Amino acid sequence: EEKKSLNFIEQLIEEDLRKDFKREELQFRFPPEPNGYLHIGHAKSICLNFGLGLKYDAPVNLRFDDTNPIKEEQEYVDAIKEDVKWLGFEWSKECYASDYFQQLYNWSVEMIRNGDAYVDSQPSAAIAEQKGTPTTPGKNSPYRDRSIEENLELFRKMKDGETTEGAHVLRAKIDMASKNMLMRDPIMYRSLHKKHHRTGSDWMIYPLYDWAHGQSDYIEGVTHSFCTLEFVMHRELYEWFLEKVYEAGRVKPKQREFARLNLSYTIMSKRKLAELVNKKIVSSWDDPRMPTISGLRRRGYTPASIRKFAETIGVAKRENVIDVSLLEFFIREDLNKTAPRVMAVLDPVKLVITNYPEGEEEWLQAENNPEDESAGSREIPFSRELYIEKEDFKEEANRKFFRLTLGKEVRLKNAFIIKGESVVKNADGEITEIHCTYDPKSRSGSGTEESMRKVKGTLHWVSAKHAIEAEVRLYDRLFNVEAPDADKEKDYMEFLNPDSLNVVTGYLEPGLKEAKPLDLFQFQRLGYFNVDKDSNPDHLIFNRTVGLRDSWGS
Ligand code: ATP
Ligand code: MG
Ligand code: MG
Repeated sequence: EEKKSLNFIEQLIEEDLRKDFKREELQFRFPPEPNGYLHIGHAKSICLNFGLGLKYDAPVNLRFDDTNPIKEEQEYVDAIKEDVKWLGFEWSKECYASDYFQQLYNWSVEMIRNGDAYVDSQPSAAIAEQKGTPTTPGKNSPYRDRSIEENLELFRKMKDGETTEGAHVLRAKIDMASKNMLMRDPIMYRSLHKKHHRTGSDWMIYPLYDWAHGQSDYIEGVTHSFCTLEFVMHRELYEWFLEKVYEAGRVKPKQREFARLNLSYTIMSKRKLAELVNKKIVSSWDDPRMPTISGLRRRGYTPASIRKFAETIGVAKRENVIDVSLLEFFIREDLNKTAPRVMAVLDPVKLVITNYPEGEEEWLQAENNPEDESAGSREIPFSRELYIEKEDFKEEANRKFFRLTLGKEVRLKNAFIIKGESVVKNADGEITEIHCTYDPKSRSGSGTEESMRKVKGTLHWVSAKHAIEAEVRLYDRLFNVEAPDADKEKDYMEFLNPDSLNVVTGYLEPGLKEAKPLDLFQFQRLGYFNVDKDSNPDHLIFNRTVGLRDSWGS
């Protein structure tokens, strides 16, 4: 029965434990390329690999696949480490593909000696042309049968930067008629006269993914190299390269593929995310609208909510699209349990309690979290002049409007029952003040008969003279279509949501003055909000993490 509860990856591992690997040999890795910040798709891969490490008590390496000096930077290495740690995982070793450049070079030299690799000196267009098509075989390069000596000499010169950049490549000698296009003498190295963020100018050649990745797995002793489905066709090449370097008795890694995470209303390619940053569509990689892990963190997502999301979607063998509202569901569920409740008014209108003595105030008890008794309570100020939300008042309304109208009663949260009496308007007919009366005996929690009286509707409010101001950033989805980059004919930039950020001034209960970056709250009746990393007591900034319920109605 246990088998049913295992996902297909775990089933593969169990099978391998019966045939190919000992339990103590199991080892995994998470292999990001440091060419951008990690996104929610990477979080799926992180949770998969590190989750397996925990389940099987096996090491998991963090391996930087840093083989392309053009796009890679130390900034990205640092950000990736921070994000993996923040998600709550610990890697066993921090590895770099660039640490294996010498070993990869030595193996390539051996392959040249064995007739398994050659230097091709044609322009890339000619090489591409000779590749053929999936239904027609390719043509051999005129350089395919170059002598071993000439190959060795040229390859050494490429490495040292003594040849013109781009004039030669090293190719594996496999089969130009293979049904698998990737097996038609794939390129192993290109010459690039570029400095690398770790190896400096030591290497003027850089290995390509297929050559570097499997060998890095092999060097580290990784048993299972999990990647996304686009790599299915690469598996044959992965195994071919491994055969060339494999020594009996060592662990032979297996590449296995799972479906990548696709999220609705989101793009996830690092290249496109970088474009949003570079074109200043968003403020930075960690803009709270970005699907990056750092963006989600700044938005108020918790590590637990992201891990739970990854666990729930699971691993599949077939591509699908996950609705972004599922991710929102998990942060809402987490914050409902943990976030202290507070009151804030984001679109204020003044409410004057005409029978409340002028100049007086009182402090009322307010429960911090009805879901968590241990969260205790706090005191909030009440006085004659308050702010409530504009949309919580209508002069006249039908019976379904359970908010404030003239002549009707509502309760002010944690405070008193009030009754709408009259309005003050300006010359344009806009309401500038709502006048009401209150029932002094109806204070919440006072135990009086009046306090138990049932009225339809409870409003949040703040005391006008005590309220503190804050910049409140109301975020919405960055794109307004489900699959912004599905149509290759169209630019995904066309589908940007022009209202993805709306900045307002909020009026908050005074205790929030002390709120620190990343602190999380529920603004009652409005949603979950956290304190932005740039916030300080003189200029408070709050981000809306998510509304209280799914406003997109899916
Ligand atoms: P991009 O194409 O956006 O640059 P990538 O796949 O090239 O992404 P890497 O840094 O190479 O980015 O990815 C590191 C690991 O994360 C790889 O094992 C990759 O398969 C995995 N990964 C990347 N995107 C996703 C995704 N959307 N869902 C699941 N795993 C992913
Ligand atoms: Mg990649
Ligand atoms: Mg990539």
